[in-house]
Amino acid sequence: MNQIQYWRSLEELASTAEFRAFVEDEFPNRTPDWNSPESRRRFLTLMGASLALAGASGCTVLPKEVIVPYVRQPEEVVPGNPLFYATAMTTAGIATGLLVESHLGRPTKIEGNPQHPASLGSTDAAMQASTLTLYDPDRSQTVTRNGAISDWGNFLNAISAVRDIAGLKQGSGFRILTGTVTSPTLASQLKEFLGAYPAAKWHQYDPCGRHSVRAGAAMAFGKPINTIYRFDRADVIVSLDADFLCSGMPGGIRYARDYSARRRAAAEDPNVQPPRLYVVEGTPSITGGMAEHRFRMRTSEVEGFASGLLRDSTSAVAKDLNAHRGSSIVIAGEHQSPRVHAIAHVLNQALGNLGKTVLYTDPVEANPVDELASLSELVADMRSGAVEGLLILGGNPVYDAPADLNFLDALKKVGFRVYLGLYSNETAAWCHWNVPEAHYLEAWSDARAYDGTVSVVQPLIAPIYGGKTQHEILNVLNNHADRSAHDTVRDYWQGQHKGKDFDDLWQISLHDGVVEGTALPEIALAAAKSPDAPPSAAGGLEIVFRPDPAVGDGIMSNNAWLQEMPKPQNKMTWDNAVWISPKSAQRYGLTTGDVIEIALRGRTVGGPVWIMPGHADESITVHFGYGRTRAGKIADGIGFNAYAIRNSTAPWTDTGVEITRKSHGYVFATTQHTQTMEERDPFRVASFSEYHNHPQFANPPEDRVSDTHTMFPLWEYKQHKWGMSIDLTACVGCQACTMACQSENNIAVVGKEEVVKGRHMNWIRVDRYYHGSLEDPQMYFQPVPCMHCENALCELVCPVAATVHSGEGLNEMVYNRCVGTRYCSNNCPYKVRRFNFFLYSDWNTESLYGLRNPDVTVRSRGVMEKCTYCVQRINRAKIDAEKQDRPLADGEIVTACQQACPTQAIIFGDLNDSNSRVSKLKKQQRDYSLLEELDTRPRTTYLARLRNPNPELEKSE
Ligand code: SF4
Repeated sequence: MNQIQYWRSLEELASTAEFRAFVEDEFPNRTPDWNSPESRRRFLTLMGASLALAGASGCTVLPKEVIVPYVRQPEEVVPGNPLFYATAMTTAGIATGLLVESHLGRPTKIEGNPQHPASLGSTDAAMQASTLTLYDPDRSQTVTRNGAISDWGNFLNAISAVRDIAGLKQGSGFRILTGTVTSPTLASQLKEFLGAYPAAKWHQYDPCGRHSVRAGAAMAFGKPINTIYRFDRADVIVSLDADFLCSGMPGGIRYARDYSARRRAAAEDPNVQPPRLYVVEGTPSITGGMAEHRFRMRTSEVEGFASGLLRDSTSAVAKDLNAHRGSSIVIAGEHQSPRVHAIAHVLNQALGNLGKTVLYTDPVEANPVDELASLSELVADMRSGAVEGLLILGGNPVYDAPADLNFLDALKKVGFRVYLGLYSNETAAWCHWNVPEAHYLEAWSDARAYDGTVSVVQPLIAPIYGGKTQHEILNVLNNHADRSAHDTVRDYWQGQHKGKDFDDLWQISLHDGVVEGTALPEIALAAAKSPDAPPSAAGGLEIVFRPDPAVGDGIMSNNAWLQEMPKPQNKMTWDNAVWISPKSAQRYGLTTGDVIEIALRGRTVGGPVWIMPGHADESITVHFGYGRTRAGKIADGIGFNAYAIRNSTAPWTDTGVEITRKSHGYVFATTQHTQTMEERDPFRVASFSEYHNHPQFANPPEDRVSDTHTMFPLWEYKQHKWGMSIDLTACVGCQACTMACQSENNIAVVGKEEVVKGRHMNWIRVDRYYHGSLEDPQMYFQPVPCMHCENALCELVCPVAATVHSGEGLNEMVYNRCVGTRYCSNNCPYKVRRFNFFLYSDWNTESLYGLRNPDVTVRSRGVMEKCTYCVQRINRAKIDAEKQDRPLADGEIVTACQQACPTQAIIFGDLNDSNSRVSKLKKQQRDYSLLEELDTRPRTTYLARLRNPNPELEKSE
């Protein structure tokens, strides 16, 4: 074992010969199997799919483009000037407000909506990637009947006939299955239908929905309620397996903002109390990575820990909670048992947190049913023959329903089956009628956010593939087939508005992206009922089910950006794996890359093993979203389907699982070994008190390189001097910045085989470091874009001056000059340059033309590329300021990564302005440069991570 402080993988910790060889090779495995027919076939399969990897041949043939001027140009459209429209995207039914950039009617980039409470101007990675789904050529493109092409008119006739027949029996035998519905308009349409056809039934199911949250509230209060957390007011937080920091949980983006704002404020002002986070979990999460104290235990044991907090007030955590009554939060994980949720409610009441850090409202769901029970009832009725017609609006139950329900077998018994969905997927394959669904950027709708605030979902573009919305289908059922989705949503809200100024309200709501006054009011509740004593966690190996950190429950599986986004915890791309702790791996004789069979309650599935530091022992974790058979060209055939062994009785954690080693040598495409800075102490961390006592810990004066350490005069930047600061105390490692950069800068994906060779193209990577033991390491995240060094080593070695320094301090790439020697990349100590070994950008797929940001060049084969500090955004702001004859204001230029970041960890600005936010941040004592000893003088610097450990626990650790 060597003496390194921070490590990224088991191989690095052990410093194996293979690892040394890998990091010493700048472009590992550069050519070994390109000529292998198998690898090449996979590469070519990806071609023509979403953002595929076209043209591995030597020459670049640019597509013909025809420029056609407007006959009548819309007044607001000025070519070259984007427009922004407010809309909202839902995750499991819950909305987040967005502003979408549109170029000549093409949505190209997602930004957060600063006026929306769930966004405050930020997004998560999936939202950034959703534009790629919009243009995905694999989306369902035509109405089909029994697999043959049909049309909307024929479908209208068919469904109207079935509705009328069902109507003779008051709707008996007719069922509708939706995901979780928060849309007030859709709920009113469903109500209208059920009012006219009272024997019909509406079922809801989301595979990764909030079943436990609702059941836990019902256990504590006798009814479902909605809980809102105020992390901006919390001094002590106990997470009972809750991954609440920007990880798909409703409100997660807002929660990450509030939580990080407190930490940032405490770093700047010693009088501000920093929050302290305890996380209890078995599967490593990004929230666990931010914890001051992470208690590692099997997921099924979290319930015992939670009830321990109820009974025992002498533990360090209980004492800390009691010392912060009214300013603490106990939050239960979405995937924990209902009992854990009930205990969290009791604890928050007992700690006096209600109305302060924990607020209750009525549910945001229109009809908050037990969705597992709802789906089970539907399946039972289908099996018994009671269902004659089934309308499935979205979702993919044939793929993701719990295996014990045998959804497909039951579905086959239904005489008339209709599916409305984005893709012709596993469920569509078994339905008689298949209607393409409009993407949210093509649709009119509405939805509620985590606090109940309603957003109107407005389209940015007409449906590219003729998709229809759920509102249009319901209109057909309600005998309003001619009414558009727009009119349906508008009429609903007009009906809700008492005053005469509805037009004003409608326009303001569309402009602002929120309907004013729709946040749900706080409610008072009776005392929460404590659940009975918990059953002791069953022994033996447990299995934990989770949505994938990148592609979620499978709805985004065919999104190549998300597939190639390194998962925050292990930097793996294009796969899912069976996570197991180092100790358990040893016990079961497993190593990373072994393929095992998992047997659970009579069902089996096979998957490759990944040894995960920090994972609980005697526990394995599997992720959903893979093992797809009809997702599209990107996702089909990769990974394994964890839904195949999931049971409705234990949807998140189950026991009695058996594993058997089947083979060895599975190759993962992970980025954690590539672009390493080796053992050069890249990450700096201290406690808040250490920092306040020794402010220069991150950058001691003796380590600093003097500005005069050169024989040349320093360049004088007369106007602007751009720079960036990244706050490691705030960054939670969510990778929204990586996806925002990919979308803004037309960055290509390369496919699994190329990632294996270290050729992925992301301009900003997020390094994940471990510190401490293999079993219980601390996890740290560090985003690394181009450093824009003052003394840029890349510039010195370029033989054709393709990489040069600008008069404002940017390290620029002149693509036309680059001849591909890659000397610059070899000389870059930060490893932030990316080379197009092949023509990774898809020049041929027509639907993808619309996706591109016209302000950024689409790079070709043989070109080096890297972060430009979003130079197109800098220039746009400069032009706007010049046109208005005014100076640029601080904060006017926001880079794509900065804009997306939920924690505001990234700040960009002018270093020549001593009052700019970035200048002030760089004056903080915890500011440091990566590899400062090399005298590269990077423009991007870091603010060291600060922690707030409990002294009582720190002593014992
Ligand atoms: Fe997420 Fe990137 Fe912001 Fe870190 S810097 S919190 S990884 S968006």
